[in-house]
Amino acid sequence: SLPIIYAITPTYYRLVQKAELTRLSQVLRLVENFHWIIVEDSDTKTDLVTGLLNESHLLYTHLAAKTPPFEKLKDKDPRWKKHRGVEQRNTGLKWLRENLELNKDRGIVYFLDDDNTYSVKLFEEMRKIKKVGVWPVGLVGGFNAEAPEIDPKTGKVIGYKTGWRSDRPFAIDMAGFGINLDLILSKHDAQFSYKMAKGFQESEFLSYFITKDELEPLADNCTKVYVWHTRTETPSVKGYIPGLEV
Ligand code: UDP
Ligand code: MN
Repeated sequence: SLPIIYAITPTYYRLVQKAELTRLSQVLRLVENFHWIIVEDSDTKTDLVTGLLNESHLLYTHLAAKTPPFEKLKDKDPRWKKHRGVEQRNTGLKWLRENLELNKDRGIVYFLDDDNTYSVKLFEEMRKIKKVGVWPVGLVGGFNAEAPEIDPKTGKVIGYKTGWRSDRPFAIDMAGFGINLDLILSKHDAQFSYKMAKGFQESEFLSYFITKDELEPLADNCTKVYVWHTRTETPSVKGYIPGLEV
């Protein structure tokens, strides 16, 4: 049978949230054997997300974990405040480790942000993953895309093509890799942290599991883009129509 894709999605309230989650959930309906772990950046689960999931026809787990305020770090290093999704991704990982069993459950774990654009082809690629699979991500890193560099002779990843810090141990966006559930379940202390430098979350997380030469290039040897790091503009709103949920 097909391995299950467990996708962990941090999400938070803003005016475009329902639009983002509607677009996302309706794409995800096209994906077989899919389990959505959606983690709200909130103390409690909201009615908006609860209602959307209820109507989604998806297999899902709905969790909530609020990002702590970190007031103390404000003056020292404001960039730390900008860590996004740390709490939520760790909560998703914890759920997997508490609810699934090594050598019994088979699957792939993917960090699926709520604002990116995903082709259904991406999910088919993921099913091939043995340890860690990687692929290009469009519209990120200061280039048209960020992509692993493949040695044509060995077929292995030898570096990264990106416009930002190609010297990172794994110069890969959160959307650019998937991990076998076995690895997540066996390395149970691997998680994200506020101590990791901004832009190095992926590198430090992947370092728990693997070295560069073990990465499995997917999406036609990393020549195809099946996911885009799109960002939705914040709409400027002059007034509110009462009682109309957008
Ligand atoms: N996110 C969150 N709380 C926040 C900001 C972001 O849960 O305060 C989520 C967001 O919904 C997304 C992920 O974290 O799924 C990454 O955030 P964002 O897309 O803003 O980051 P960027 O694309 O700028 O890296
Ligand atoms: Mn984003």
